Amino acid sequence: MADGQWGNCKGCRHFASHNAQPSEDETSRCMQPDLSEFELEVSGNSGCNAYEARAGMGTPATYHEPAPSVH
Ligand code: SF4
Repeated sequence: MADGQWGNCKGCRHFASHNAQPSEDETSRCMQPDLSEFELEVSGNSGCNAYEARAGMGTPATYHEPAPSVH
């Protein structure tokens, strides 16, 4: 398994939650390819180093799309 960054399942894209922002006490399947064969049920405050941030997470809060300037 890749020695990646450790993170919480609630913020991981492999956490099979239907919620956009899973809570710490929610449990879901881990769908990480190397781990899915074990059919792990993990909670939001679990985590591992195969963590990958969910889409839409990790973008700095201060980032804004530039307003179009073409008229
Ligand atoms: S166990 Fe690891 S890969 Fe699976 S959901 Fe949690 S952080 Fe993601």
